[in-house]
Amino acid sequence: MLNEFILQVVLDTPVERVFDYLWSGNEVPLRGQFVLINFGRRELVGLIVSIKKESEFPRDKLKSVISVRKQLSPVSAEWIALCQFAADYYQRPLGEVALPAVPKNLRSLKTVALDKALKKLSQPQVVAQAGHAPPLNSAQEYAVQQIVAATGFKPGLLYGVTGSGKTEVYLHAAEQILARDPDAQILVLVPEINLTPQLQGHLRARFPDLQVATLHSGMAEGERTLHWLAAHTGQARLILGTRLAILASLPALKLIIVDEEHDPSYKQQEGLRYSARDLAVWRARQLDIPVILGSATPSLETWQHTISGRYDKLSLPERAVQNAVLPAMRLIDLSKDKPAEGLTSSLISALKQRLDKGEQSLLYLNRRGYAPVIACDACGWMSNCHRCSAFLVLHKQEYKLRCHHCSLEMRIPKACPDCGNVDIQPLGRGTQRIEEHLQHLFPEARIRRIDADSTRLKGSAQAAFETVHRGEVDILIGTQMVAKGHDFKNLTLVGIVNPDTALFSQDYRAGERLFAQLMQVAGRAGRAAQKEGGSTSEVLIQTRYPQHPLYQALKSHDYPQFAKTCLEERSQADLPPFIFQALLRVESKELATSLEFLRKAASLVVSDDITVHDPIPMSLMRMANSERAQLLLESHSRPALQAFLRMWITQLSAIKPRLSWSLEVDPVDI
Ligand code: ADP
Ligand code: ZN
Ligand code: ZN
Repeated sequence: MLNEFILQVVLDTPVERVFDYLWSGNEVPLRGQFVLINFGRRELVGLIVSIKKESEFPRDKLKSVISVRKQLSPVSAEWIALCQFAADYYQRPLGEVALPAVPKNLRSLKTVALDKALKKLSQPQVVAQAGHAPPLNSAQEYAVQQIVAATGFKPGLLYGVTGSGKTEVYLHAAEQILARDPDAQILVLVPEINLTPQLQGHLRARFPDLQVATLHSGMAEGERTLHWLAAHTGQARLILGTRLAILASLPALKLIIVDEEHDPSYKQQEGLRYSARDLAVWRARQLDIPVILGSATPSLETWQHTISGRYDKLSLPERAVQNAVLPAMRLIDLSKDKPAEGLTSSLISALKQRLDKGEQSLLYLNRRGYAPVIACDACGWMSNCHRCSAFLVLHKQEYKLRCHHCSLEMRIPKACPDCGNVDIQPLGRGTQRIEEHLQHLFPEARIRRIDADSTRLKGSAQAAFETVHRGEVDILIGTQMVAKGHDFKNLTLVGIVNPDTALFSQDYRAGERLFAQLMQVAGRAGRAAQKEGGSTSEVLIQTRYPQHPLYQALKSHDYPQFAKTCLEERSQADLPPFIFQALLRVESKELATSLEFLRKAASLVVSDDITVHDPIPMSLMRMANSERAQLLLESHSRPALQAFLRMWITQLSAIKPRLSWSLEVDPVDI
């Protein structure tokens, strides 16, 4: 006789529901298996989250499962629990979390791609060349010991100055954990795709006979399927990825490493707005395993946890390479040393010195394009985007004006569209303009710009970084893309062109972010020992406010002092990490409509535990013809906020507003 069961299935739909399907057959399906079902008129792949004998619905109302995807082993209960937590915490349906976390190929109706991938996976892997490990210094040694000695859940902050050899600590800890457990898997997260090749190289060299899987959004679907499967089947022992990798299925996970844990890229900014760092800590707790958060400039949340004792702090106070020291920081007062084309004479002569000695320099300017706006002197016209409350940025080489928010493009007008004046001028400067000026100043130098514009093509960022590593570049100019993680060996000068704009931002996190960015980019200088006759490594910061406390803390490389001041301010002003926040965002054709919806939403907040602020337009109010506004909620109790949000979402959906809204828990951009 055939067995009959009710399979409860979640689907990638905005409907917060589990659907019952009828199944009959010999082999009982398992929780965590994927099934093909009919949904409305469509066929969809769903995930079995539970199996029972009876449904609340009458049998003749239930549809039968079309097929169970048996080739794919079920995802674990742990993985489903992780997705369930993320769904609950970030207020999304489980199906919308779980299914998109699995590569499309495995969810597609046909199993061809899956079969092909499984076959390919069973073929032997190429073995890499073994690399040697340098002996650890005592601080690294101690950190590794602490990590591997941890039994059970133990979050640790690896607080190491730039160049202190955090990677080596990860590699040694990984080595010991992999050696003592023949199945163990280790997950390493990095904030950006372009940091994966460097680390992948280290992992391959250090663990030549182990399989390394990589997961990030820049991979082709076929590749992603293979790597996901390698992780899911346990074949890949090391899994390296960007934020989305935290949602990978990892049956034998024993250690999680989050490198550069402070980086805002760990927060997903659309759909499921999760923090991969926070999910990493949750996942480690659930599995009762250690998790390491590495940074030279930890997030204030994490730093506060080390102060309260919830997280261990492991410090690497010095640079790892013998005789490599942190660069000297010099503040260049723009009121005394007046810049020409954005560059002061101090910075230019420092660049010249590096060129003469055959050393590399890096100029950092977090603004791409040629100039952020063009303007007419005669009538005051400026190149506004007519779809956004933002300027169209001048991209001179492409003869275009381009909006960085909605991608609107226009040809550069020959004359002012308002008054006909032909003398319209670019205002301010971006990386392209600095590049142009550098070419003019140093015609002999090999100058390379790395930013989102110069690296559009797949693989071009990696190729560009390799030219720097091979010494084929004298001056590198770039945005934050060049600031993070890269271990440039011959770089002795970092010039920070125009950091001041972030000092006066309305966002209370702007200072924390600027400090971290500048420490990171400064940390690219002087990573190798000073050469005989070579320059001492230095960082030149061009500013109008050399006395600003942020720059003063930066000058003395004093993150703890900076963090202390920030935390005191946050505590006094009752801001995170001392309070928990959620942000409701809405966009519609009219600002009044957006604000009206938010006022209605605000009126539904009646709990004493929750503070609701006034609805306000977002700082970039108009984007792609939508008027955007936001409403901030705060609470000292995370559970109270969570419980409230759950109820609120139902109420908000019931209003059936004809505009689009989204909720972000623990927002980072306010
Ligand atoms: P971080 O991530 O802390 O900025 P890295 O891990 O990139 O630093 O290490 C910086 C440099 O120090 C690398 O070139 C690395 O090979 C080197 N290094 C790390 N540990 C040691 C060590 N114990 N002895 C010598 N060199 C080391
Ligand atoms: Zn004009
Ligand atoms: Zn626009």
